[in-house]
Amino acid sequence: MKPRPVPLRTCAGCRQQHAKRDMVRVVHGLDESAKVDPTGKVNGRGAYVCPRRECWSAALKSGSLGRVLKTSIRKQTWQSSSGSASPCQSRRPPA
Ligand SMILES: [Zn+2]
Repeated sequence: MKPRPVPLRTCAGCRQQHAKRDMVRVVHGLDESAKVDPTGKVNGRGAYVCPRRECWSAALKSGSLGRVLKTSIRKQTWQSSSGSASPCQSRRPPA
C-alpha cells in the first residue's frame, strides 16, 4: 500500500494546518445557518476549526469563521453541537 497524503485543513482559529480528520467541520448549509458537521459530508461552504476551545474562541472573536462561511455564527450553534463533534468531550466549551 502506498501511503496516502493526509489531507490538511487550515484552522479558522489558530490558522495552523492540521489533519482534516482531527478538525471539526462547520458548514454553511442550504438553510442559511451554520452548523457543525460531524460527518464532513454536508453540502455547503465549509470551514475547519481544531476541537480546542482556544481555536473556537479565536475563530469567533476574529470573525474569520463568519467570513469563511459568509454567515454569522450563533454561539449556540457550536456550543450545542461541538460536544458531540469534538474528540475533547471532557472540555467545556467557552462560556
Ligand atoms: Zn486551531
